[in-house]
Amino acid sequence: MVTQKDFVLAVEGLTVSFDGFKAVNDLSFYVEEGEIRVIIGPNGAGKTTVLDLICGKTRSTEGSIKFRGKELTKMSEPAIVHSGIGRKFQNPSIYEELTVFENLEISFPRGHSVFGALAFKRSAEVIAAVEEVADEIFLSEHLGKTAGLLSHGQKQWLEIGMLLIQKPDLLMLDEPVAGMSVAERKKTAELLNKITQNRSVLVIEHDMQFVEDIAHRVTVMHQGKVLSEGSMDFVKNDPKVVEVYLGH
Ligand code: ADP
Ligand code: MG
Repeated sequence: MVTQKDFVLAVEGLTVSFDGFKAVNDLSFYVEEGEIRVIIGPNGAGKTTVLDLICGKTRSTEGSIKFRGKELTKMSEPAIVHSGIGRKFQNPSIYEELTVFENLEISFPRGHSVFGALAFKRSAEVIAAVEEVADEIFLSEHLGKTAGLLSHGQKQWLEIGMLLIQKPDLLMLDEPVAGMSVAERKKTAELLNKITQNRSVLVIEHDMQFVEDIAHRVTVMHQGKVLSEGSMDFVKNDPKVVEVYLGH
């Protein structure tokens, strides 16, 4: 029997009403450990609002969001981050005037120890973590570079790295390959495919080739509801999906 424990994320009956308009309307879906789930759907379907609800930026009107069995709908945004959820917004929010190294370093979660003697040890730990993440995000050669000088794609990777260094159990990305070259999209797919050990990823994307390269399962949203769900192969051949989304 499948129990709620098998899911990292369980969204059930989730609804948000903006002045009577239900941007998300009785939505339910479940994400497993190690899964890359992609949410697709036409503009205005409610995709970004779902991420806003999960990270606590927007408060639900009804329904439940359970993360590792813990109810998120009443938790504050910082408490949700602390529980292990990292979210990347559509526009990269990096510190342009700082170096790649510094951007990663300031994102490293600090412990609460006040012992000065630990400072050296801690910085060695930070350096190791920064180098490990820089390697994952293809920026090892650019650690000393001012972030503002990176390409658009590299800035997107840096922001993903700033989340990865916090070791989230659930990483949420809103249109991560928008504006990227084909080569950068391929590398981003490679990056996401290698970071899913003990971690789930929830991605919103429109680029069908990219979705094909990363999705374990796809949830298609339309008018705040799930229109279809399953493998990429299943949803792209679902007549309902072709009608409202892929056919256009
Ligand atoms: P998607 O990401 O699928 O394109 P969104 O989740 O951004 O769609 O938006 C879904 C709908 O909800 C849109 O009609 C949008 O205008 C509306 N909406 C989103 N956030 C708010 C808000 N804070 N207040 C009012 N309406 C909103
Ligand atoms: Mg959106």
